[in-house]
Amino acid sequence: MKDGYLDFANSPMGSKLIKALGLPTPLPLERYKPGQAVINGTVLVGGGGEPQLLSTLAQFFKSVSAQTLAHERLPQWVAAANQAGLTTGRWGLNGEKGEKVKALVFDATGLTDSTQSDSLYWFFHDAARSLQNCGRVVVLGRPPEECASPRQAAIQRALEGLTRSLGKELKKGSNSQVVYVSQGAEGQLESTLRFLLSPRSAYVSGQVIRVRKPVGQSVAPADWAQALAGKKVLVTGASRGIGAAIAEVMAREGAQVIALDVPQAQAGLDEVAKKIGGTALAMDIGAEEAPQKLVDAAMAQGGWDVIVHNAGITRDKTIANMKEHLWTQVVNVNLSTQERINEALVASGALKSGGRIVCVSSISGIAGNMGQTNYAVSKAGVIGMVQSSAPIFAEKGITINAVAPGFIETQMTAAIPFAIREAGRRMNSMSQGGQPVDVAEAICWFASPASSGITGNVVRVCGQSLIGA
Ligand code: NAD
Repeated sequence: MKDGYLDFANSPMGSKLIKALGLPTPLPLERYKPGQAVINGTVLVGGGGEPQLLSTLAQFFKSVSAQTLAHERLPQWVAAANQAGLTTGRWGLNGEKGEKVKALVFDATGLTDSTQSDSLYWFFHDAARSLQNCGRVVVLGRPPEECASPRQAAIQRALEGLTRSLGKELKKGSNSQVVYVSQGAEGQLESTLRFLLSPRSAYVSGQVIRVRKPVGQSVAPADWAQALAGKKVLVTGASRGIGAAIAEVMAREGAQVIALDVPQAQAGLDEVAKKIGGTALAMDIGAEEAPQKLVDAAMAQGGWDVIVHNAGITRDKTIANMKEHLWTQVVNVNLSTQERINEALVASGALKSGGRIVCVSSISGIAGNMGQTNYAVSKAGVIGMVQSSAPIFAEKGITINAVAPGFIETQMTAAIPFAIREAGRRMNSMSQGGQPVDVAEAICWFASPASSGITGNVVRVCGQSLIGA
């Protein structure tokens, strides 16, 4: 659905009026276009204590051919960069500000005590105004639950407060995340940095991501622009909306897509499948026989590599007014089917070892929502399923993660009454709704063969919506 306010706010007359009235000013977000560089500009690097990821970062920036600069409090970046064969400069000498940059990356893995938090202050104090529009902030830390002492855990946990506040302060289409990297998982960071520092993460902000030791074998793609080359991917609910975007982005990344939807959606499904050179599978996933049918279909193709559980329904009513069948229907389609399908596909080996399961939750499942007890139960249940299944599926080399979209411009949200729709659209750090492609890009990152270190994560694609945590 078109966002007329965004267009108006960016017109010469509209921008003046909106500024005068103190209204939110959304900026058109930069989104990924095939062929473009991972980072469209220079990266300023900072760190505190004895940072442990400098050589990992230097190798990463070298592999994506990024320009970097060292903040004056991290002079050791120059040596780390040079060692990786990356030329770098210094930013902001003698208290002067340096040039504008596209991304701020801070290695906080060396912080062991809250008394060292001033390193965060100086870096972001100096650089906040130097971030370009649609800029990126990534702070790297160690998982608090894996820290050696309560003091270290406290300062590492504190990073969440910093990055979430920065997401709200920076505005102008910029985003901000913390990535907790387990000891020994340094080699698993690349797919996450490629996602977070590029326009692919346009509508993801204020998130906490955990990168762990790999589940099964981690395989860096020969060509990162075709990360899913040769992979067979099932996308449910693919005839329209977010599902159609997932199918398209997966195909763009080289996947062979099996697009599934209910028989009533056959026309839209055929159109999507034709557009992306995939196959259409008309099936109601809520039916009892669906898991076995999917196992048979996957086995006939030699097994599948990725399952994306996108199909979902809403049947909104306050619980006092809700008929029982509306409750059961929503919980069945949005949660129980996913459980049954996962169990069947994993147990039979129809989802191959090294496989990926990506689920679609919702911020309603995190924050709850008026009139959506059934939906919120189902979507919160998806989060529980992801977190509890991750260690079990890891034994088979399979990862499982979820995205939790906020307000995404689709037919589902176009049906919301105007006032509520406008509130959902504007009450986030981007002052606009997300596009289906934003959810699809996050799913592609989880689905990548290089994302073996990412499992049990739930990442919101919500522009840092004020609804929920
Ligand atoms: P949509 O209604 O446009 O698409 C959902 C698709 O799922 C439809 O094509 C539908 O036919 C299919 N589907 C429903 N039941 C099915 C079944 N039993 N078997 C097979 N297919 C079935 O919705 P959307 O906005 O594209 O949402 C996609 C997913 O994202 C859903 O899980 C939804 O809950 C979630 N989500 C959407 C938003 C948003 O803002 N649009 C926000 C949060 C979460």
